[in-house]
Amino acid sequence: MSTAASSINGWCLTSPARSQLKNTPTLRPTFFANNRLNPSSSVPPALIRNQPVFAAPAPIITPTLKEDMAYEEAIAALKKLLIENGELENEAASKVAQITAELKTVDGKPSSDYPVERIKEGFIKFKKEKYETNPALYGELAKGQSPKFMVFACSDSRVCPSHVLDFQPGEAFMVRNIANMVPAFDKSKYAGVGAAIEYAVLHLKVENIVVIGHSACGGIKGLMSFPDEGPTSTDFIEDWIKICLPAKHKVLAENASAPFAEQCYHCEKEAVNVSLGNLLTYPFVRDGLVKKTLALKGGYYDFIKGSFELWGLEYGLSPSQSV
Ligand SMILES: [Zn+2]
Repeated sequence: MSTAASSINGWCLTSPARSQLKNTPTLRPTFFANNRLNPSSSVPPALIRNQPVFAAPAPIITPTLKEDMAYEEAIAALKKLLIENGELENEAASKVAQITAELKTVDGKPSSDYPVERIKEGFIKFKKEKYETNPALYGELAKGQSPKFMVFACSDSRVCPSHVLDFQPGEAFMVRNIANMVPAFDKSKYAGVGAAIEYAVLHLKVENIVVIGHSACGGIKGLMSFPDEGPTSTDFIEDWIKICLPAKHKVLAENASAPFAEQCYHCEKEAVNVSLGNLLTYPFVRDGLVKKTLALKGGYYDFIKGSFELWGLEYGLSPSQSV
């Protein structure tokens, strides 16, 4: 499994060409200097380098610093530079504090770029604990995918279905958007969602489409708050969440005197039903339902109570009648 290029567990990321970095001295914590790749590794495509990105972002000021300067030396040099410059004297303390904060992680280890470090460490952990311990699964997934589920979930950072429902790689084809909405069939307005449903149903042949709403959904709160008509104050959000306007109207009609929070709670669930109804506007979804190769389900994850609810879409053909 291990190759020369995986001495840091296969981490790779596009990065600026060396020549672009040449004239921009950057702080380089010594921690990463020891993690350079084996130079004998195979040459990757030009735009994808099999090496970690350990250069810091362009500094606020551009002092002359040696590339492999130790972290403490670099901070000391920055302090000296800022204090020596009279014009910067008043700003020196705050700049030093800012730069120092940017160079440290919460546990005090030097870090040049938190997002890059976080992603890198996350991938290394995944690769070590999951990818390399389950070669059978990842070997199969290398050949293709055959998920049983298509899942619509909110983009909310608290509701990732892979965590909440323990979906493993290859199990669920996923679309996440504001308030987990499925628009009605519309080639010009919602081609992105349509393409995902078409691919899932016709090519992957998923057996279930699950739309999952959740507690304290900001998108639903917006739907319940924004005016239904008139000028919008957002470029995209209001137009998007209006997909589930019928849910809002139903909730307001049935719970007119309920507190706003309770109306939102009802709408979080009712919007799932509107999305399930909208799925029926896709001809390939209808075909799947009629042939019983596809089922539609609604779900609701309450992260305040720690509960999950699942329900099926009530649909069917009326029995034939003869007179
Ligand atoms: Zn949400």
